[in-house]
Amino acid sequence: LAGRDFHPEDTIVPVRDLLVGGRRVQVIAGPCAVESREQLLETAMAVREAGATMLRGGAFKPRSSPYTFQGLALKGLEYLAEAREVTGLPVVTEITDPSLIKEVAEVADVLQIGSRNMQNFALLQAVGRVQKPVLLKRGLSATIEEWLLAAEYILAEGNNKVILCERGIRTFETYTRNTLDLSAVPAVKHLSHLPILVDPSHGTGRRCMVAPMARAALAAGADGLLIEVHPNPQEALSDGPQSLTPKEFARLMEEIRPIITAV
Ligand code: PEP
Ligand code: MN
Repeated sequence: LAGRDFHPEDTIVPVRDLLVGGRRVQVIAGPCAVESREQLLETAMAVREAGATMLRGGAFKPRSSPYTFQGLALKGLEYLAEAREVTGLPVVTEITDPSLIKEVAEVADVLQIGSRNMQNFALLQAVGRVQKPVLLKRGLSATIEEWLLAAEYILAEGNNKVILCERGIRTFETYTRNTLDLSAVPAVKHLSHLPILVDPSHGTGRRCMVAPMARAALAAGADGLLIEVHPNPQEALSDGPQSLTPKEFARLMEEIRPIITAV
């Protein structure tokens, strides 16, 4: 179902009144984690002002260590709903457990499946059974085929609103947090009809590399970007080193504006 042979035209996924896919460029921006009402609202207003088209923020955080900040959970969802109310931006947030489907789907406009859960098949089936767009991030060590098969689990349950997101893979390189595999963009475009976004924040782990790789992703044909933004990255409870300040994000949006209007 994910293959081009099955469905030759590009799939366009509607998210509220936006369309994802078909080489329109959507920019999802916001903090890694929802940390407080003030932090989220401040970031949401700043990214909207700069031209982001969707707001992101994790309420349930699948952290590598159980001793680090795990997210505000239901309170975080509440703040996301308020931020959407205030800014009008659709909300993208991660779901980590099939038992949370009702609560998360009630607030999210897009359900994010994180890298660590790309092969959580029960979770994939659960989001496949609701009619909500799903942002499926590539697993830390997943091949493109495994990633498309994960998408297949969602499609096979009857939800065809799947958006892929390249976010870097594990390699021997340690200078960057992950190795952003931009070749996945044309590969996925060749193999599949599903839209593909690129996340240079997790893909590089380094603030100074986010803007160049964002531009490169669009040059490679990505249907959009996912960018982490924090009002004060030094104080961020997660992913501070890769988060842009609102000012840096606004500069990036200026840089890519000609590319966005050209496609
Ligand atoms: C995130 O988007 O904050 C996140 C946890 O991403 P990933 O699943 O790609 O690590
Ligand atoms: Mn993050």
